[in-house]
Amino acid sequence: MKPHIAIIGAGLAGLTLARELSGIADIALFEKARGLGGRMSTRRNASHQWDHGAQFFTARSHTFNSFLTPFISEGTVVEWQPNITTLSLDKTPFKRPWFEPHYVAAPAMNSLLKAMAGDLNIHLSTRVEHLVANDKGWQLLDDQQQLLGEFDWVISSAPLPQTQALLPAAILGDTLARYQMLPCYALLLAVDDTDLPHWDAAKVNDSQLSWISFNHRLPGRNRAAGTVVAHSTAAWAQAHLEDDQETVKQQLIARFCALTGVSTAAITSAQLHRWRYALSAEVAEPDQAFVLNESARLAACGDWCLGGRVEAAFSSAYQLACAVREEIAANA
Ligand SMILES: Cc1cc2nc3c(=O)[nH]c(=O)nc-3n(C[C@H](O)[C@H](O)[C@H](O)COP(=O)(O)OP(=O)(O)OC[C@H]3O[C@@H](n4cnc5c(N)ncnc54)[C@H](O)[C@@H]3O)c2cc1C
Repeated sequence: MKPHIAIIGAGLAGLTLARELSGIADIALFEKARGLGGRMSTRRNASHQWDHGAQFFTARSHTFNSFLTPFISEGTVVEWQPNITTLSLDKTPFKRPWFEPHYVAAPAMNSLLKAMAGDLNIHLSTRVEHLVANDKGWQLLDDQQQLLGEFDWVISSAPLPQTQALLPAAILGDTLARYQMLPCYALLLAVDDTDLPHWDAAKVNDSQLSWISFNHRLPGRNRAAGTVVAHSTAAWAQAHLEDDQETVKQQLIARFCALTGVSTAAITSAQLHRWRYALSAEVAEPDQAFVLNESARLAACGDWCLGGRVEAAFSSAYQLACAVREEIAANA
């Protein structure tokens, strides 16, 4: 009989695991949000959309490039060649070339995750709150204490602090302590495109903002519906994490206008998204791509194991799937 595996989180790591293990196991994937994507999500209203997490990604390993190939062929993943600049308050902007391919999913960042989901068994709007050990394996309970199922294996792909809250520390020991995650604010504006500079995106050298893009100019987006995504620096987000959110929004709008020269009159709407666990601190020696306890049949993976970023999320999950597959085969 196939083992039953619960996977927590439907970001790139969780979906990679589910795809890689679905041939040898019965998979149930639980996601607390209403949609797929995690930090590769897309926010929409009636007229505009924003990729408020990852804006692009690179592909350096052979395995990640092979994974992307069919999605590139079908147009779900597209190379992005923006006109990119460098901005700061006190220096003249200069054009900043990229020296390796950068990719985006189209028509929205979460399109890749939707394409990966296929007919996987995914439970959205379902927050896993507790794991309870019994003689068969693990029971999962949601935030209403309802039983979600019984599983032989449980794998968390949630961001590190959420994984730490879920998995029994006594079993995983102090392995999770070597990783760290940092926050980020995303400022999401609707703007009139005719009032914007000619560049598409900017790497910002500033204490408040680190990145600005005119999101509607990414491949496959509606270029008539002007949108800005501006990311704060992790240090500024950390210092202002619990501040009044309206004040934070107004401060970031003012900085965006000062850096770009765009007038506040061009902004037709503004939202703020607080990512408490956005980015991973560099791991000193990223030699452990995942965390696995074979005897307890518990594991964890995600971008945080390998120092953050989209490719790290894929690589961590892919390597964990290989290890779990070997373990299942050895005990068959
Ligand atoms: C603002 C920002 C900008 C970024 N920019 C870039 C970039 O330019 N390039 C790049 O390569 N990377 C970038 N990243 C990082 C990139 O988005 C991540 O590395 C990657 O998406 C992580 O994928 P993941 O599957 O490991 O985690 P996630 O995408 O976080 O997925 C984990 C999922 O677990 C779910 N979850 C958590 N707890 C529970 C629970 N108890 N029950 C059920 N579900 C749960 C969450 O809702 C989430 O959907 C950025 C991230 C942010 C936030």
